[in-house]
Amino acid sequence: MTDRLYYEDAYLLQFEGKVIAQREEKGIWLALDRSAFYPTSGGQPYDTGEIRWPGGAVQVMDVEVDQEGIVWHRVTDKIPEGETVQGRIDADRRRDHMEQHGGEHMLAGAIWEKLGGTTIGLHLGKEDSSIDVQMPDGRTHLTEDEILMLEDTVNDRIRLDTPIRCWFPSEEELRTLPLRKAPTVTEHVRIVAMGDFEMVACGGTHPSSTGRIGQIKILSAIPSKGKIRVTFVCGQRAEKLFQVYMRFAHKAGNVLSCPVEKLASSAGELKARLAEAERQVNRFETERILNRIYEAEETESLKGVALSLVMMDPADSKPVAEAVSKYIAEDGKALLLSFGERLTFARSQDVDIDMNELIRRVARGGGRPELASGAGISTCAEVAKKILITEGKGKTWRKKS
Ligand SMILES: [Zn+2]
Repeated sequence: MTDRLYYEDAYLLQFEGKVIAQREEKGIWLALDRSAFYPTSGGQPYDTGEIRWPGGAVQVMDVEVDQEGIVWHRVTDKIPEGETVQGRIDADRRRDHMEQHGGEHMLAGAIWEKLGGTTIGLHLGKEDSSIDVQMPDGRTHLTEDEILMLEDTVNDRIRLDTPIRCWFPSEEELRTLPLRKAPTVTEHVRIVAMGDFEMVACGGTHPSSTGRIGQIKILSAIPSKGKIRVTFVCGQRAEKLFQVYMRFAHKAGNVLSCPVEKLASSAGELKARLAEAERQVNRFETERILNRIYEAEETESLKGVALSLVMMDPADSKPVAEAVSKYIAEDGKALLLSFGERLTFARSQDVDIDMNELIRRVARGGGRPELASGAGISTCAEVAKKILITEGKGKTWRKKS
C-alpha cells in the first residue's frame, strides 16, 4: 500500500519516495511507496507533475490507485525499481481541484441543510463542476430564489474562513459523528469536517479553511434523470468566469448603447422592433407579389376563369404563400407561378382544376387539388398552361355549387 501523503497535508507539493514496482500497459506506470500525487477518485481528477531521479526527470500524466491501495503514476519514461525519487506536483492544477472540491462540499452541505436534498456524486470538469441532487419531494428544479439562497449561504460560510479538518476516526467515534450521508466504504473511513456546515466521508484533497475556497458561483440547476444537476464554479474559476461575462456584457452594452443592467430590456425592445419591421416588410412584399400576379392576369384564356402564368424572381419565396392565398381567396382564379425551377400552382375553391394532378404531369411535386408545389425545368409552367387551354376547350371551369 502506498503511503498517501495528501491525506495528512493537501498543501504538500514536493516529496521523496521510492519506486516499488513498474508495469507497461498503455504507457509506463510507476508505483511509489509514498506519494503526494492524487489519483483520480471520488469525482476529483488526478494530479500532474514531475518525478525526478538521478537519471533525469519524467512527467506524470495520469495517476490511479488500485484495489490494494497502491498509487500508480503514468510517466513518460522508465525509472528502475528501488530508485529514490523526488515528486513535484503541479500547484495550479491541484489548487484548482481543491477549490472546486471544497466548494462542492459546502454546496452539498447547504443543499442538505436548507432543502433536504441529497447529493449524489461529483463531476469535476475542465470548465465547471456538477453534482446531482435528489430532492425529498422528487422535484427536478430549483427556483431562482433557492439558487441565490444557496449561493449566498455558501459564500457567507466561505467568508467565515472556518478551519477544515480531515481525519481517520476510530470505529466508536465514527458511530457518533453527524455525517451528511453514510460512508460508501467500511474500512479506513476518512472524514472531512467544515465547521458545522459539512461533515462527510471523503478521501479527497481539501483546502485548510473555507476561506481558501475563495467563492462559489452556481451556473445552472437543470433536470437530469429525475434529479437536479447543479453546475457551479469555485475559486479562481469563478473569478475568471466573471471577467469573461463582464467583458461580453460590456461589449453587448456598447452595441445596444445601454448599461449592463438594462441589457435584457434593451434586447427585448430591439427584438420587438425587429419583429414589427419584419411584419411590415412581409406585408409590403406580399402586396408587391400580389400586384405582380394581377398585372400578369389573363382573363380571356379560360371560360370564366382568370388563368395566370407568372414568372417570378427565384429569390422570391417567403411572402409568396401569403400573396397566393390572398389571390385565390377571390373566385375564379387559376395561378401558375414559376420561380425558375420552383413551381407553385393554385386555384380558387370554385375552380374545377386539380392542381395536384397538373403539377405531377409536368414536374416533380404534389400537394392538394387547390394548391400544389414542385420543381422542374423552367418551361414546366408554360406546358401546364398549354395543357389547360387544350384540354379545357368547351369545358366549364367553374364548379357547380
Ligand atoms: Zn472531499
